[in-house]
Amino acid sequence: MEIADKLIQTHFLTKEEALELLAHAGNKEMAARLAQEAVKLRQSYYGNKVFIRGLIEFTNHCKNNCYYCGIRRGNGKVKRYRLTEDEILECCDSGYELGFRTFVLQGGEDPYYTDERMTALVKRIKETYPDCALTLSVGEKSRASYAQLRKAGADRYLLRHETADEKHYGILHPKEMSLAARKQCLYDLKELGYQVGAGFMVGSPGQTRESLAEDLVFLQELGPQMVGIGPFVPHHETRFAGEPAGSVELTLFLLSVIRILLPKALLPATTALGTMDSDGREKGLAAGANVIMPNLSPMKNRKQYDLYDNKISTGEEAAECLDSLKRRVATAGYRLVCERGDFAGEQFSGRT
Ligand code: SAM
Repeated sequence: MEIADKLIQTHFLTKEEALELLAHAGNKEMAARLAQEAVKLRQSYYGNKVFIRGLIEFTNHCKNNCYYCGIRRGNGKVKRYRLTEDEILECCDSGYELGFRTFVLQGGEDPYYTDERMTALVKRIKETYPDCALTLSVGEKSRASYAQLRKAGADRYLLRHETADEKHYGILHPKEMSLAARKQCLYDLKELGYQVGAGFMVGSPGQTRESLAEDLVFLQELGPQMVGIGPFVPHHETRFAGEPAGSVELTLFLLSVIRILLPKALLPATTALGTMDSDGREKGLAAGANVIMPNLSPMKNRKQYDLYDNKISTGEEAAECLDSLKRRVATAGYRLVCERGDFAGEQFSGRT
């Protein structure tokens, strides 16, 4: 337990210490101690609030070929769709009615959505819903593009680094993609004043204890305002179809560790966690998460945003089920709130 105490006292881990901690990831007593501390920290900054983000998966076209992903360029079997600007605004509209005050536009890297079109879309959403935060999650772009979108009104950006281990990055991605480029994007986004979200899949093929230690070190270096982690889930049309899914238990352990390293971070209990375990979201909250991202995409397209097999797309993850989600969250001892839910720390230099 010494290593857990060290983490709790200093909120910091060297790579060697991270390796030592990860060696105990299966220790239930340690996991419980870290979860208890994680919940205490979250409580001190955010009380018992759980923030909701309305997720709009607006395109599954993608020019990238990440080997783990169901909507990668190389999957010829996926039926492609792209929402129009009006359809996206309709999603925001129904979300606003339900009480959402953050919209997350997520998609593949779709060349149709040029900087010009994205800028127009961001402006329109921010003009229509000035009291809402807008998060983008549309992959790697130049610093100039990120700057333009920020100027148009985008507040936050989610870009998981996927793995901070160079060798592991090469197992998950084709040669034209690089960890260095991914990291540069994150640093650019941060400098431009976005609230930034990094993150990774737990248990992705080739991931070692060493890779996870690198992830924890990188997160401390970057100091993101949000961290999205969820178990890897195989997709049948990828080279990793036969690989085992990531562990829910390890994901929960890492959520607690990340909460302690970055106490004010906004940490979602992800859809992948909910896919792997029907109580995954509640377990995520009990491990230190404080964000849930229900789906606001049109029902007809939900199945098509097919990142991995069995992705939940009709149940509790749906925005329409907000009331039952509220009850579930309340039963778990938390309060689902309809607020923007900004980062509670100094790193945030938001304009709105
Ligand atoms: N294109 C944007 C990007 O690259 O950040 C956003 C969309 S991308 C599909 C969103 C996230 O889905 C990725 O960051 C990845 O971690 C996750 N994802 C993709 N395939 C997955 C899988 N098989 N299991 C779990 N998560 C997966």
